[in-house]
Amino acid sequence: MDAGGQVVVLGAGIAGVSAALHLQQRGVSVLLLDRAKPGSGTSHGNAGLIEMSTALPHPCPQDLGTLVRYALNRAPDLRWQPGGLLGMAGGLYGYWRNSRPGRIGPIGASFRALMGKALDEHRALAVPAGAAGLLRDCGWLELVRDPRLLEVDRQAEVAPHGIRVSRLDSAALERAEPHLRQPFAGAFHWQATVSITDPGAYVARLAAAFVARGGEVMAAKVQGVTRQGAGWRIATTGGAVHAARVVVALGPWSPDVLRPLGLRVPMLFKRGYHRHFAAAEGTVLNHPVHVPGSGHLVVPMDMGIRVLTGVELAPRDAPPDLRQIRSAEAAARTYLALAEALDPPWLGTRPCMPDMLPVIGEATAHPGLWLLFGHGHHGLTQGPASGRLLAELMTGEAPFIDPAPFSAHRL
Ligand SMILES: Cc1cc2nc3c(=O)[nH]c(=O)nc-3n(C[C@H](O)[C@H](O)[C@H](O)COP(=O)(O)OP(=O)(O)OC[C@H]3O[C@@H](n4cnc5c(N)ncnc54)[C@H](O)[C@@H]3O)c2cc1C
Repeated sequence: MDAGGQVVVLGAGIAGVSAALHLQQRGVSVLLLDRAKPGSGTSHGNAGLIEMSTALPHPCPQDLGTLVRYALNRAPDLRWQPGGLLGMAGGLYGYWRNSRPGRIGPIGASFRALMGKALDEHRALAVPAGAAGLLRDCGWLELVRDPRLLEVDRQAEVAPHGIRVSRLDSAALERAEPHLRQPFAGAFHWQATVSITDPGAYVARLAAAFVARGGEVMAAKVQGVTRQGAGWRIATTGGAVHAARVVVALGPWSPDVLRPLGLRVPMLFKRGYHRHFAAAEGTVLNHPVHVPGSGHLVVPMDMGIRVLTGVELAPRDAPPDLRQIRSAEAAARTYLALAEALDPPWLGTRPCMPDMLPVIGEATAHPGLWLLFGHGHHGLTQGPASGRLLAELMTGEAPFIDPAPFSAHRL
């Protein structure tokens, strides 16, 4: 296929679909290419949170106690396989260094510049696409067992970042979540976060809007990207595609197509699992809930109650190790009446860069090769804002936020 002056976007997750919509809005002809249905990769399997209540991009803890717990491989929030540690040693060291006090400050500021726009950018795409019905303005609840922890002034901690949190005592928590089985001292309600009740369907609806406006989606696996004259040749299982410019938005698979071009991406693969359960008769969960330190999250979704794990550091394609999702399920069952599992466990990978910021920009020394990946723990949140920034840079428009921290020169 000759896509001529077209832009070909590789990957129809939240990042690629958002970029395709933004390029289309600016009059660019776009072909969106994915081996699977739009929104069926990492962008389907996450916790569905447009996370407007976080000031930092998940830095590595620095205190010795936590690091020792991690080293012993018994922490519920992070487990590792030896192959994962060895294969990502350089990236992990970078991640740890960038988490240190002197460095995390500026990284956090760049992170918030993108995150602060995230919800507005979601609505700007979701409303015209008919996807806004999948957004629930419910925030999430941090469940607290120890009454002393409830006394901490969390609002004062996060106020400098414009984040709102309210404290629920046990009676208020019972009104908010009448079916929690265990007594909790209360909860913190992180109100600004929005929950997407079916993240895969949400991305699919955005992609459908792209098609309805004349965009083209091609189902084929990318086998390689090579320079051809002033443009690019993309070898796929559906034949070769030629294009003037390419956007690599393949999430955790992005490094695979870039390696043969001499671009080595130091991506960290932070794997995570989910599984859906039916609620036991009469049980309702109104908010996503998390017990700090438990290493799991429970989210009410359209397809059931989604129980998710923390991080597993393992080679991206290593076989699943179901211990984490089993213990997440067991922990959730202690406070919520779950009935049968509705599907087998799902395994996905958070694509993280060592400086915890996504890569958004043109590859150094490869004109016409644009990069859009590395969104880590917050890619669902950031996708629409990242897609806008990329489209602005590609079309020479003034960028709505400073693109420098996200530049591909970091690679
Ligand atoms: C357990 C878990 C929980 C999470 N929770 C949240 C959350 O609550 N909030 C949040 O903001 N983020 C969350 N995230 C992170 C978020 O899901 C990701 O950062 C985000 O989905 C990445 O989007 P993407 O478009 O870059 O990648 P993807 O959604 O993975 O899209 C990449 C696409 O590339 C396609 N592809 C790959 N290889 C090829 C090939 N060779 N040829 C053709 N197509 C190919 C795939 O099929 C896929 O559709 C979570 C992640 C995990 C794993």
